[in-house]
Amino acid sequence: RAKATGKNCWVEFRPELLEEEIARLQVIEDLQQAPAEAFVVHYQPIVALATGEVVGLEALVRWRRDRDGLSPLVGPDEFISLAERSGTVVAIGDSVLRQVAADAASLQVQAGRSLELMVNVSPVQLRRAEFTERVAAAVRRITAAGCRLHLEMTESVMIDEDSNGALHDLADTGASLTIDDFGTGFSSLGYLRHRPFSSFKIDRSFVQDIATESTSRALVEGMVKMGQALDLSVVAEGVEAADQADILRDMGCPLVQGHLYCRPLPLAEVQEFLASRRIRSLSA
Ligand code: C2E
Ligand code: MG
Ligand code: MG
Ligand code: MG
Repeated sequence: RAKATGKNCWVEFRPELLEEEIARLQVIEDLQQAPAEAFVVHYQPIVALATGEVVGLEALVRWRRDRDGLSPLVGPDEFISLAERSGTVVAIGDSVLRQVAADAASLQVQAGRSLELMVNVSPVQLRRAEFTERVAAAVRRITAAGCRLHLEMTESVMIDEDSNGALHDLADTGASLTIDDFGTGFSSLGYLRHRPFSSFKIDRSFVQDIATESTSRALVEGMVKMGQALDLSVVAEGVEAADQADILRDMGCPLVQGHLYCRPLPLAEVQEFLASRRIRSLSA
């Protein structure tokens, strides 16, 4: 039942830990077997606070794990880190980029305007030599559709000194680079001086306390001001309540995203959402 690792020191054998590890290995194996079509892109609108207009969409991947499609889709928090561990995140990321490139033209038509299309990328993808070419191909299609591709990456990519060249190569394709979950990483702000970012997204953990906690409010205000001073566009993530949006508007935060406006939706539903917003704004 238990194993001695030293005098008076016991490590208990917990069967549920073994079960969890077996479940993780099963996820990794299923990810390796999964066809590209098993990865479905949902889209969440990004809204300009001043006008209420939808100016962009974030692509968020989901996994149809079972063949018959009866079980709920699996969310990225349950598989992306395992896909990074096993390398399948490269194929998943390619599939997401291709879907977004394929969807861009119809999304632009439904919205009646150019859209900023934001795609999350893993550091594992960034380290692959062929990634820049994949991005360049997506940029060509997305630009032809009248939209713009943004690649979202967390501060963790900046820890790697070698990533600087890769980031400039990516920016040279015409893609815009965005720092995701800004404020939660460990890297220094110095990277903003030399690396080609055009925007950052304030992490939801700061936004959620903005109406109730003065420290979070001060941090968010500081981040918004920093964006203005450095000429970087700022998106506040995870806006769920009207009082949060009011505070962000007063601070001058340009862009927001969150359940208050819209949840991530499958392609057909986000097209409907865009079309109904366009018609409403036409008749307003
Ligand atoms: P993220 O890039 O920071 O995406 C925002 C997450 O916040 C999404 O979760 C979104 O559904 C959720 N969210 C948006 N508004 C609200 C809100 O008002 N309240 C709350 N509570 N949540 C909100 P999701 O879709 O589960 O994605 C989780 C993470 O998985 C993403 O965080 C991103 O890091 C990763 N991810 C998603 N798609 C991809 C992908 O295609 N490739 C890679 N490498 N990672 C991805
Ligand atoms: Mg993101
Ligand atoms: Mg984020
Ligand atoms: Mg995140």
